[in-house]
Amino acid sequence: MQKTIGYAAHQHNAPLVPFSFERRNPGPTDVQIEIRYCGVCHSDIHQVRNEWGGSVFPMVPGHEIVGTVTQVGGKVKGFKPGDSVGVGCMVDSCRVCPDCQDNLEQFCNQAEFTYNSPDKHSGGTNYGGYSGQIVVNQDFVLHVSDKLNPAAVAPLLCAGITTYSPLKHWKVGNGDKVGIVGLGGLGHMGVKFAHAFGAHVVLFTTSPGKAEDAKRLGADEVVISKNHDEMQAHLASFDFILDTVAAPHNLDDYTALLKRDGTLCLVGVPSHPHPSPSVANLVFKRRRVVGSLIGGIKETQEMLDFCAENAITSDIEIIQIQQINDAYERVLKSDVKYRFVIDMTSLKLPNRLNQPKALLN
Ligand code: NAP
Ligand code: ZN
Repeated sequence: MQKTIGYAAHQHNAPLVPFSFERRNPGPTDVQIEIRYCGVCHSDIHQVRNEWGGSVFPMVPGHEIVGTVTQVGGKVKGFKPGDSVGVGCMVDSCRVCPDCQDNLEQFCNQAEFTYNSPDKHSGGTNYGGYSGQIVVNQDFVLHVSDKLNPAAVAPLLCAGITTYSPLKHWKVGNGDKVGIVGLGGLGHMGVKFAHAFGAHVVLFTTSPGKAEDAKRLGADEVVISKNHDEMQAHLASFDFILDTVAAPHNLDDYTALLKRDGTLCLVGVPSHPHPSPSVANLVFKRRRVVGSLIGGIKETQEMLDFCAENAITSDIEIIQIQQINDAYERVLKSDVKYRFVIDMTSLKLPNRLNQPKALLN
C-alpha cells in the first residue's frame, strides 16, 4: 500500500481538509498516475454535502483528473511512464453486461465510480482526484494529447463528455437550432461542442453578465431566461435543448420552446426534483424529455481526440487545493469562469502545515 495525501470532507457539513490515506500498489493491469490537475464539478459539491443521499465519509472528491503515468503493471498495454493521461467519473465496471458490451459502462449496475463508490480491491470506498496520485485499471485510463493545455483538459473528463455524449447521441449537427441552459462547467462545454458540430446555438442564462462570454465561447444568441418576452420569442423553434442547471426549475419554460418532435435533455441533477413538466406541452407536439449520464470510455477517448484535433478545451480558473472551500462557495453562486481546476502540486505547499494539526490525520 502507498501513503497518499489528499483533501477530504469528513462529514456532509464540514469543509474539506488535508487527509492522508492508502492506495493499492499497481496490480498487473493497473496504471499509477501522478495527478497534476483535477477539475471541480458541481457533482463534487452535491456529494460532499450529501445532497443526493448515501454519501460515505471521509470523502475525497474529484473526477476530472489529468496526470502523468509513473508506473504500469506487467500486463498493461498502451501506457508507459511519462504518458499524459486522464481519468473521469469511472474506474471500473463488470465488462460483461449488455451496457459494458455496448461501450456504455456508465450504465453498468456494477460501475465503480471514481469516488464515493465501493472499491472492490479494498472493500472500502474509492477516493478521488483531490489527491497526489491514483491507481486505475488500464481500461479506464484515457490518452491525453500533449497538444492541449493539461489543466484545461481536466474538465473534459466530466463536463466535456457529459455534454458531448448527448449532443452526439441525439445527432445534433449542421442547421439544428440548439439551446444550452446554464453557463457553468457543463454549459460552457455544451456551447463549444454544439458550435463545433455546426448548430445554431442559443445560450439560456440567469446571469446577464455572462452574455458576452457566451458569444465568445460559440453562442449565436443569448437569452436571459428570467425575461418572459425574450423566452416567448423562441416558442416552438428548437430541435434540441441541453439543460445543465444544478437546481430545480420549471421545465415547461423549455419544453414550450421545442419544435414538434424536439428533445429536452436533462444532465443537471439537482438535489430536489423539478416541478413536473406539463403533459399538454409534451403531447401536443410529441416533444420528449430525456436524460443522459456522462459517456462510456470509448466515447470519452473519441471526445478527447476530437478536442485535440479542434483545439477545444475548457475555460478555467486555476486554484490551489487550499482554496477549495472558497471555490465551492463561488460555484454555488454561479460565479465561476467556467471551471475551477486544482493545481495538485499545491498539495506540497508548506502552508498545508498551517492547517490545525488534528486535521492533518
Ligand atoms: P455549475 O458549474 O454550477 O453550472 C450550473 C449553471 O446552472 C450555473 O452556472 C448557472 O448558469 C445555472 N444555474 C445555477 N443555479 C440556477 C438556478 N437556480 N436557476 C437557473 N439556473 C441556475 O455546475 P456543473 O458542474 O456544470 O454541473 C451542473 C449539474 O450537472 C450539476 O447538477 C451536476 O451534478 C450535474 N452533472 C451531471 C452529469 C451527468 O452525467 N448527467 C455529469 C456532471 C455533472 P447561469 O449563471 O448561466 O444561469
Ligand atoms: Zn462531474
